[in-house]
Amino acid sequence: MDKKDVRRNTQIVHAGRRKEWTSGIVNPPVYHASTCLFETLEEFDRAVANPNEGLYYGRRGTPTQWALQEALVETEPGAAGCLLTPSGVSAIAAALLAVLKPGDHLLMVDTAYEPTRGLCQGLLKDMGVETTYYDPLIAGGISPLLKANTAAVFCESPGSLTFEVQDISAICEAAHANDASVIMDNTWATGLFFNPFDHGVDISLQALTKYVVGHSDAMLGCVMANEAHWKRAETTVFRLGLCAAPDDAYLGLRGLRTLPLRLKQHEASALHVAQALEGHPAVDQVMHPALPSFASHALWKRDFSGSSGLFSFSLKTGQRSHLPALVDHLAHFKMGFSWGGFESLTLPLRFTGIRTATTVDFTGPALRLHIGLEDPEDLIADLCEGLDRFMQAVKTG
Ligand SMILES: *Cc1c(COP(=O)(O)O)cnc(C)c1O
Repeated sequence: MDKKDVRRNTQIVHAGRRKEWTSGIVNPPVYHASTCLFETLEEFDRAVANPNEGLYYGRRGTPTQWALQEALVETEPGAAGCLLTPSGVSAIAAALLAVLKPGDHLLMVDTAYEPTRGLCQGLLKDMGVETTYYDPLIAGGISPLLKANTAAVFCESPGSLTFEVQDISAICEAAHANDASVIMDNTWATGLFFNPFDHGVDISLQALTKYVVGHSDAMLGCVMANEAHWKRAETTVFRLGLCAAPDDAYLGLRGLRTLPLRLKQHEASALHVAQALEGHPAVDQVMHPALPSFASHALWKRDFSGSSGLFSFSLKTGQRSHLPALVDHLAHFKMGFSWGGFESLTLPLRFTGIRTATTVDFTGPALRLHIGLEDPEDLIADLCEGLDRFMQAVKTG
């Protein structure tokens, strides 16, 4: 472990643990609060004048949420503040609404998380925002797509399902030359493996539901913004009435304490499984940014300090109708949405209707895997047996 790691790990143990919030106990209490009480008119007037400087009303948080917010800011240096939302999707909506108004144009990465596309095609379209989808590998080539009314460029890197790594610095440079703000969904890497603010991003968001909570038991999101975008982000989240439940904020904070350790294990195990799949005769492509064979590898290596446990692979032959032979009988991989927990998951992929600027062309079905904290040898054995069953099913039709 190098010195930088030690500093980061130590920092995460201490982050957000202010004595005035914890009363000297290790963790903050879980305050269930709506009303906060003021003793005097003077105290009341002071709170009304500065509603974000102390206890004001439950929706603006208590030390339970503040501790997590402060700790998260330390994971993405350059953030002026952090707002909690009740899910990752609400963080995406708040970030977009913070910078978009009717008549604006939005550039959305083609590999965005599917509900992000849903927001563009629904709510944003209805309010008069036009969306253009762009190739995740576009880099500085995004310049010609920026129009006079382009207010925002949305990035997600690596991209959902196919893991293309974006040149965030080049995109930020082009966007800023056109006075457009850059928003990034940083759920895959978390601030530990990629700091959006180092690359020029204005608003960074995460589905904390995934790695930060880390135990598949709470929905939570966050929005962080640089100084220039902080007020807009804060006002938007408050105006929308978005707030995180205290129990969920507590689980997020608990998860954050072990995040460096868990991510290290997810990273090592996922790489091990990805390499095993790469050598398997049934497997065509393994879409994992840390594999040298992956098209986006060089960019990942340039910009990221690690890889997490989520990647995809495609099969050489077969149809979706052969997939039950593989996925229905796995011992360790269960099928389901979300990821980032301690347990391994698989998700059969479909691309119909969710790619418009690029094409996805696989010879056989594709699956996404989240590699949990099980022993990777057990996971590899499980997958190999599944792949044997799949090949058998393909052979017998
Ligand atoms: C899951 C996910 C989200 C949404 O998070 P929820 O907490 O499920 O709403 C957003 N972005 C990415 C990349 C995700 O994988």
